[in-house]
Amino acid sequence: MKNMPKKYHINTRTTPLDLEYVFKFKIVRGENCINCGKCTKVCIYEAHKRRQDDPRMMADPNTVVCRNCFRCIQECPRGALEKSLDKDFSNIGGAFWKPDMLLSLWKQAEDGKVPVTGAGYRGPFTGIGFDSMWTDMSEIVRPTRDGIHGREYISTAVDLGRKLNHLNFNSEGQLTSKVPDTVDISIPILFDIPAGEITPNVKEALVKAATEINTCIILPVADITPDIGKYADNIIPYVTPDEIETNEAIIKKVRLVTIEYREAMLIELPVLIERIKRLNQAITIIRIPATKDVESIVAKLAHSGAEVVQIAADYCGREINGSVGTEGRLLKDIIRALHFKMVEDGIRDEITIIASGGVAMAEHVPKAMLCGADLTAVDIPLMVALGFRIYEGPEKLLVFPEGLDKIPASTLTQRIVNLMGAWHSQILEMMGAMGIREARRLRGESGRAIFFEEIDKETFRALFEKGKW
Ligand code: SF4
Ligand code: SF4
Repeated sequence: MKNMPKKYHINTRTTPLDLEYVFKFKIVRGENCINCGKCTKVCIYEAHKRRQDDPRMMADPNTVVCRNCFRCIQECPRGALEKSLDKDFSNIGGAFWKPDMLLSLWKQAEDGKVPVTGAGYRGPFTGIGFDSMWTDMSEIVRPTRDGIHGREYISTAVDLGRKLNHLNFNSEGQLTSKVPDTVDISIPILFDIPAGEITPNVKEALVKAATEINTCIILPVADITPDIGKYADNIIPYVTPDEIETNEAIIKKVRLVTIEYREAMLIELPVLIERIKRLNQAITIIRIPATKDVESIVAKLAHSGAEVVQIAADYCGREINGSVGTEGRLLKDIIRALHFKMVEDGIRDEITIIASGGVAMAEHVPKAMLCGADLTAVDIPLMVALGFRIYEGPEKLLVFPEGLDKIPASTLTQRIVNLMGAWHSQILEMMGAMGIREARRLRGESGRAIFFEEIDKETFRALFEKGKW
């Protein structure tokens, strides 16, 4: 079709990482294997392969891609295969970063496919945060639906920058409003400041993956070394207000700059933005910790001309410094409160809101947007794609696999691209099922979401109120 836009596509490719992982189960091939190769045929996920150096022999099974269907175990003529429980598995993660979630991220980075499991979902019906909301999937059952597998084009592109509330025209019908610049990215996910210490090959991989999928990565300005200078279009330097002029050479080349929030910005923001615009027409992102005052801070900044704000919750998606005796709000509730405040103040359309902290799975991206974010930023899932393990207790610990610094950046790049490819496919599935064809339209579309606390209140609580039961 002539005017059909070119479909955005992320090229995934199975990319194993030859490092020590922790698995829920390990597939083990026993001594009694006769190398008949039947398991290579029955496993559609290609967990079983012959050795490259000696094709007469079987290679060790690739547990990362295994989907727990048990078929190879049932069909092995010698009963040579078994699944054994990995005792370290339950120690990783914690209450938020559940071990199964980490396993799923590893698998998605391995093959770039939408995660499925042969063992079925046996988890709880509801939970906290994003687990307490569901998306309306009613469009999926429409018999006429063309869907993402047909001709229908679904765009995941979003833009960053200030938008005008309305346009002005002169008496000749010419536009007199100055339309601000925006930056378009193809997927509603930025790469956030890398979580933890990273080696040069990891940094290179993150930058190249961001470039390949047409998004951007936020990097502390000190990490923007000349070797990655050619990727400037996809790099967002992270600076404090004092570092703007001292990093003039970098800021002159980029399209976006992230600045750490300071209280003084509530008064001096226009001057600060002007300091950046003097160097370059780059768009300014203000990164604000998601404290309990975040709505009023963002409202004040938006009224003073803020273009883009990034709300940074902690690594489990919790409010920073939550009220005493509580753990504070979760990202879902912070975004909703912020969105409502902006709508109430009549400035929601003018500012771009990035939600970050605790965006751990593909479904969190459209859910954050339905709550009111324009897009998200992720950090830990990108590290998990490279084999990192996270431990929540007794305190946050991110452990990178031994030997990671020797892995070629091209392998690591592909794993990050794979993870984003798998997330992109899931976002498309969710958007298609919701009947939303443009990611920009997800923002604040809460009519497409069902919030557990609301149905609980509307449906059940009234029944149990005093006098009604
Ligand atoms: S099917 Fe069983 S015996 Fe045959 S190669 Fe696989 S593990 Fe070995
Ligand atoms: S259990 Fe299923 S998915 Fe896993 S290796 Fe065997 S056949 Fe493949």
